[in-house]
Amino acid sequence: MIRIYIARQRYDAWLVADRLNQAGIRAHVFNQHASSIVGDVPCDHVAQPQVWIEREIDRERAQIVLRDIEAAGHRADSVACASCGEESPGNFDLCWKCGATL
Ligand SMILES: [Zn+2]
Repeated sequence: MIRIYIARQRYDAWLVADRLNQAGIRAHVFNQHASSIVGDVPCDHVAQPQVWIEREIDRERAQIVLRDIEAAGHRADSVACASCGEESPGNFDLCWKCGATL
């Protein structure tokens, strides 16, 4: 397993993993419930959602997928949901978590 991406937000990790799987790269998200372990680990990055791929052979393609995602601008300014407080990408109309209008 190879760590390919450290996300700032859970939706970010899931989006990346989803795109990788669509590209035929087996990817997994870890630390998705980051908030429950914050405080037990000294390094910020350990507690953040991470995307791992299964095979070294996919690493190069995975990085191309990552570049495409970043080029598409999904990491533009995020919007906090007024209903549940979760952050969604700025180009979303509805909260990814609860479906409220942003
Ligand atoms: Zn919400």
